[in-house]
Amino acid sequence: MQTYAPPTEDYRFLLTDVLDFDGAMAELGQTEVDAELAVTVLEEAGRFCAERLQPLNRVGDEEGSRLEASVVRTPTGFADAYRQFIAGGWTSLSADPAYGGQGLPFIAQLWLDEMISATNLSFGLFPGLTRGATEAIAAHASDALKATYLPPMISGAWSGAMALTESGAGTDLALLKTKAEPNGDGSYSVTGTKIFISSGDHDFGGNIVHLVLARLPDAPPGVKGISLFIVPKFRSEAEGKLTARNAMSVGALEKKMGIHAQPTCVMNYDGATGWLVGEPHRGVTAMFTMMNAERLMVGIQGLGVAGAAYQQAAAYARDRLQGRGADGAGPVPIIAHADVRRMLLNIRAFVEAGRALAGWTAIQLDRAHAHPDAAERAKSDAVVALLTPVIKAAFTDFGFESAVQAQQVFGGHGYIREWGMEQYVRDARIAQIYEGTNGVQAVDLVGRKLALGGGTVVEGFFDLVAAELDEAADLTGNLAVIARTRDALALLRGATASLRGASVDTAGAAAVDYLRLFALVAMGWMWSRMAAAATKSETPFHKAKLSVADFFALRMLPQAQGLAAGIAAGEAPVMALQAEAF
Ligand SMILES: Cc1cc2nc3c(=O)[nH]c(=O)nc-3n(C[C@H](O)[C@H](O)[C@H](O)COP(=O)(O)OP(=O)(O)OC[C@H]3O[C@@H](n4cnc5c(N)ncnc54)[C@H](O)[C@@H]3O)c2cc1C
Repeated sequence: MQTYAPPTEDYRFLLTDVLDFDGAMAELGQTEVDAELAVTVLEEAGRFCAERLQPLNRVGDEEGSRLEASVVRTPTGFADAYRQFIAGGWTSLSADPAYGGQGLPFIAQLWLDEMISATNLSFGLFPGLTRGATEAIAAHASDALKATYLPPMISGAWSGAMALTESGAGTDLALLKTKAEPNGDGSYSVTGTKIFISSGDHDFGGNIVHLVLARLPDAPPGVKGISLFIVPKFRSEAEGKLTARNAMSVGALEKKMGIHAQPTCVMNYDGATGWLVGEPHRGVTAMFTMMNAERLMVGIQGLGVAGAAYQQAAAYARDRLQGRGADGAGPVPIIAHADVRRMLLNIRAFVEAGRALAGWTAIQLDRAHAHPDAAERAKSDAVVALLTPVIKAAFTDFGFESAVQAQQVFGGHGYIREWGMEQYVRDARIAQIYEGTNGVQAVDLVGRKLALGGGTVVEGFFDLVAAELDEAADLTGNLAVIARTRDALALLRGATASLRGASVDTAGAAAVDYLRLFALVAMGWMWSRMAAAATKSETPFHKAKLSVADFFALRMLPQAQGLAAGIAAGEAPVMALQAEAF
């Protein structure tokens, strides 16, 4: 059976030696929160994930969620685990204390998400979507709606779902057809069919609060005519008591490649009662609050699966005897073979840098909410907006590639169900697709995010990275990872300049390569920070950090040159072939 060791030592190292967590919290006036407290919370969270969620991962995959007489049944043990998850207070960790949340820093939430995703990706979508929904409600709904919905959703008694997609409207929300007609009493009748709705229904009890995108009768065409509605499974009275069942039902559960335990629903809304969230016709803006939160979480899913797959593969590689070592003796554990080590190091170099970058971004999110200086809040908000598509797409691409490489370490046994490696591959794949495909994230980065603040946001980020690399070089001498990250940053700056004002096709042709180049630089920056911190100690943990930093510098960062060359080739190689010739 798979086991999971929560990466607590790494969290501690990052909080204390790399991210200056205590300093960051002091700047926000949160002196009662420090690294020790965060580690204690993460240790407890890790125990829950390892002991309660990990054992259900396989059961969930094999049983899957089922639709029985229009009722969704989750796999054995899921409803109990969810109740324990609520009882442990894990749904309210970083939520607003005004509505019953614990108000802990977002870093605790994001790393909890890593451990949940590592142990049970399907399970994680239930609280994950609820959290995204509460954020959209908190940011855009009326006080009355907030008072009704936020406390039970934050406590976990009620859950949330996000209903955007229709069969004819996926990436392009302008095409959606679901309608909302005013009832004359402040509520609306919502009618339409949505597909692919994660956590659309379940058997955990409580209400299920759908955030549904629909068009009002007077809606202008396109995305500017879409509004957002709260459509709960049960009508609820002000004090949160559930009353009549709303006119909505699960038409079917999607049969899919992975995340079998997660009920992905076709949802029919047949004149279901809903309430407008925010302004009419401004629903996409409101929904983006939810989607941005979800995009970070989905990026972390890639990280979580990669970390878990790494643990299984590293243990197997130390155990499995095959072939001879360099001295001709054998059989040796396969960890002796350079190619097996290469695969493991590819995964580890991503996971540890990704964890650090996620932590840095989480601190920026807290600054964006709570920094006393408005200019600092705006600066942090902008850098999170810049990094969100990078984290979503790069982490989930690396996550899937990592799952495949970890499976490869098992040889044929990786292809056999028993070892669980093929489940990681199947489960990790969806994260590259939902919450906006990774291709669309890359287009968002190049088309919208580079233009933030007239280009000052991305330039400010590059200046920050450059200044920190200089600082790290002064402290440590020019470690390979610092020198190589500087080279990659120069390539990234050049690519950025070449894409400024580029045509749609030039930007689109470059976007995915550009996003990966960006991610490599961001990870190189984190490896430089970690390596600089690791030079201060001689423990095996710190020595390993330096070793993996070197691997990242010398084996992964050189990809920057190939990516830059692809970007420089422009649109012609991609656009020249006529559509009919494909
Ligand atoms: C298991 C699962 C769970 C999901 N959960 C939810 C959920 O909870 N709620 C919800 O509302 N939706 C959900 N989705 C839907 C998911 O977000 C969409 O499938 C996804 O956004 C892509 O839309 P699509 O499938 O219609 O693909 P399309 O939009 O048809 O895209 C097809 C291809 O074209 C590319 N493409 C499309 N437009 C562009 C463009 N402008 N520029 C460049 N490339 C483009 C895409 O990258 C993709 O490769 C889920 C999907 C799945 C499979």
